[in-house]
Amino acid sequence: MTIRNIVKIDEEKCNGCGLCVIPCAEGAIEIINGKAKVIREELCDGAGFCLGVCPTGALTIEKREAAPFSEKAVAEVVSDREEAHMIQRCFSCNSEEGEIALFPCRLKGKSLWVCAKCLPKLIHG
Ligand code: SF4
Repeated sequence: MTIRNIVKIDEEKCNGCGLCVIPCAEGAIEIINGKAKVIREELCDGAGFCLGVCPTGALTIEKREAAPFSEKAVAEVVSDREEAHMIQRCFSCNSEEGEIALFPCRLKGKSLWVCAKCLPKLIHG
């Protein structure tokens, strides 16, 4: 065990929408019985990419004692999930994640993906 940053999920606030599952490149989050869960501590690196897409504010980062992050555990989980991966697209130009970097954003109450080309238009109008 070590003291480190890890995602904390407030089950009272979580509505089970599942939006936080895809931004987690490590496969640390699953929806279980209608609520998001960090399935194994060693899969969560505490980077917090899931936080930006949560519509209810259920996700935060806390510093606490946890199992160390494990690249090996991530590699096993990610290879198991590759076949089930859904390709994400930019809401504005429809570019897919294999073509250009996508970023999570919130717009008019929706959680969306925007690509590196379209992001400046969102920022600067
Ligand atoms: S995005 Fe937020 S509300 Fe939706 S499942 Fe994840 S933690 Fe729950």
